[in-house]
Amino acid sequence: MSRTTGESNRAHIGRFAPSPTGRMHAGNVLAALVAWLEARCSGGEVVLRIEDLDTERSRREHADALQRDFEYLGLHWDIGPIYQSERVEAYQEALSRLERQGLTYPCFCTRADIHAASAPHAGEKPVYAGTCRRLSADERAHKLPQGSAALRLAVPGRVIAFTDCLQGAFTQDLPSECGDFIVQRSDGNYAYQLAVVVDDAEQGIGSVVRACDLLGSTPQQIYLQELLGYGRPEYCHVPLLVDTTGRRLSKRNRDADMEALSARFKTPEALIGHIAALAGLIAPGEHANPQELTSLYSRTPLKGVSQILWA
Ligand code: GLU
Repeated sequence: MSRTTGESNRAHIGRFAPSPTGRMHAGNVLAALVAWLEARCSGGEVVLRIEDLDTERSRREHADALQRDFEYLGLHWDIGPIYQSERVEAYQEALSRLERQGLTYPCFCTRADIHAASAPHAGEKPVYAGTCRRLSADERAHKLPQGSAALRLAVPGRVIAFTDCLQGAFTQDLPSECGDFIVQRSDGNYAYQLAVVVDDAEQGIGSVVRACDLLGSTPQQIYLQELLGYGRPEYCHVPLLVDTTGRRLSKRNRDADMEALSARFKTPEALIGHIAALAGLIAPGEHANPQELTSLYSRTPLKGVSQILWA
């Protein structure tokens, strides 16, 4: 097995970027372990970034618990914690640059308007039909005082293609598969897509490791990087852990949250060992700490795997 992680052997900064909306669960542990190993095996550092822009759902006590959980697991970081809620000037500056390029427009549509206009297939996220992009200056001026608007980024006719280190080639046609997307919500909060791109660039992140559910967001982020003149990090989308019904583990699965995991596995080495075995790095039943796994880490067992059954 190779010790180095990528095609290049340069040290790259990695990151943990949890949203403090609940306790960590097994899927987060897998993503964090791979993020940590990718950075450490390249000789690089790890940033801890708390993604707390969603003021309704984020809680300081969850942010504190996440940090204790990383420490307990031996997933130590070097830089941070950096709170997104303290970086709004940076997001506003990037947003102003997009506005000056004439690429954003206010959107007054409600969720129901968007659904009605786009006729999505069951379970699919609707692609915004561009309704508010076509408003005249007069119509906009008339609507603006009536309530708060979101800001959307107008996407061009472009296909974005990239190669994910684990999932391989991925392409997305921006207009038909993504549509004009929100960069600032109607409540004034900066959108995840904008904040993550600004942060990854300004924090020098070379390797973005996260769960596969964000694979489809990556083209939007790549497009924003291009508009803002940022470089592109490498992307590694790790498999989702799913339950026996095929649904991804989430904060709903209480048996897979840190409280249940530490009760079941008793020691951090048993838990990390279990996760590392699911990732194909060691044999089932072995115990390990993250440091010991650096000599065993390889992307190979995770390549092309988008789901792993949690058991
Ligand atoms: N904050 C996101 C989450 O907790 C991860 C975002 C990212 O890694 O880009 O799911």
